[in-house]
Amino acid sequence: MEQCDTFVIGAGPAGLFCAIHAAGPGNRVLLGEKNAEPGAKLRISGTGQCNITHAGDIRTFFSRYGSHGQFLRPALHAFTNQDLVRFFDDRGLSCRTRDDGKVFPASRDAGEVLALLVRECHLRGVTLRCREPVQQVEYRHPGFLVHMPGGTIFSRHLVLATGGASYPKTGSTGDGYRIAASLGHSITKIGPALAPVTIAAFPFVSLAGMTFPALPFSVWRTGRKVISAEGDLLFTHAGLSGPGILDNSRDIRAGDEIRLSFAGPVQRDVLTGKMVAAISRAPTMMVKSLVSGLGIPERLAKILPDMAGVPATCTGAHLTATARNHLIDLLMGCPLTVSSVGDLSIAMVTRGGVALNEVNSRTMESKLVPGLFFAGEVLDIDGDTGGFNLQAAFSTGYYAAQGIRLKERKSAEQGPGKG
Ligand SMILES: Cc1cc2nc3c(=O)[nH]c(=O)nc-3n(C[C@H](O)[C@H](O)[C@H](O)COP(=O)(O)OP(=O)(O)OC[C@H]3O[C@@H](n4cnc5c(N)ncnc54)[C@H](O)[C@@H]3O)c2cc1C
Repeated sequence: MEQCDTFVIGAGPAGLFCAIHAAGPGNRVLLGEKNAEPGAKLRISGTGQCNITHAGDIRTFFSRYGSHGQFLRPALHAFTNQDLVRFFDDRGLSCRTRDDGKVFPASRDAGEVLALLVRECHLRGVTLRCREPVQQVEYRHPGFLVHMPGGTIFSRHLVLATGGASYPKTGSTGDGYRIAASLGHSITKIGPALAPVTIAAFPFVSLAGMTFPALPFSVWRTGRKVISAEGDLLFTHAGLSGPGILDNSRDIRAGDEIRLSFAGPVQRDVLTGKMVAAISRAPTMMVKSLVSGLGIPERLAKILPDMAGVPATCTGAHLTATARNHLIDLLMGCPLTVSSVGDLSIAMVTRGGVALNEVNSRTMESKLVPGLFFAGEVLDIDGDTGGFNLQAAFSTGYYAAQGIRLKERKSAEQGPGKG
């Protein structure tokens, strides 16, 4: 039977990076990918431009993975955003940071990032085999039997870098969860994250494409506020998207009410005062003009009075106190009911995955099965938009490789037969 020292399942960013850093004398690495080509998701990341990471102190990253950032702390410290930029720069691919902190390759070409990683794999002696879907894995001390349609390979170490279950057409179809579960691991409930939301009877269909920078909004469930946030929003043909919504989508559910504060972070009495003052200055001004005078985009200002039951031709002087209050309600928190959150077929990442309490965050090794390692999105980790997911994939891939090397060193120190 064919043998290797480390078998990495999945040639996405996490698997490629792990293979690169694990390979070396005494560690023959085989990287198995089920697709005909590696890195299908990496290739389309950042709409093909690849937002590889985010700028700033690595400590600011920990809060960008919901409540699971603490698990990533050692991996992110071991291989930071700056280390990542240096890794690419040292190999001739320079990066640029945008004003919003997102870091991209200067060429804005995800294909170049992928090509560099594949080249590096070859330089380090990694054997990359495509069209090798791993179907099943068995633990056979002191290693693993990795079963593929073409045959079985024995490996001392195994890395699950199979990605999540979102965007399945790129190859991440949740195989890693099945394999991890078959080896005894718990899988937390998976679902879409970084997904747009669909709104029931969306009143702003005609405004699809309109964006709102740093818009405050809240999310309500059965009368209780569950999210209070501010972020860039985008109207789509069916609802809401943009980083503000995508980043919070892991915690939004069908039936929730999203309230958009078009007027910005303003107190109700201040907004009322502004509107009353504007009416007394120009009583014959149409209400839609009064609304746009408050800094609301003109096309939206035409729709909001109608939603508040104010006739299109109504002037400020004719606006009743009740109608004015309705309008202010809408400007402070326009309520929109979520009919669905984008499913796994369109979500950029998967929430849930291999339970973190069963994985050693300092080595990425399973606490249940010796020699089994995890890297990337197969773990119960999902980050905000802005390069945080790729950084997590690279850092955990790197860290799993260090975990393997550490294990190798320890077993060499202990002598033959004790590994
Ligand atoms: C449209 C889109 C845009 C994105 N843009 C960005 C961005 O700009 N910045 C950012 O930080 N994140 C972005 N993301 C998220 C990011 O791409 C992922 O989080 C990241 O690719 C996860 O890396 P991974 O290596 O863990 O998994 P993946 O990239 O999913 O790779 C897993 C690999 O494993 C293979 N595989 C699965 N099962 C098997 C099996 N049984 N046998 C063999 N191989 C198998 C798959 O074919 C795949 O190649 C984007 C995601 C999407 C969908």
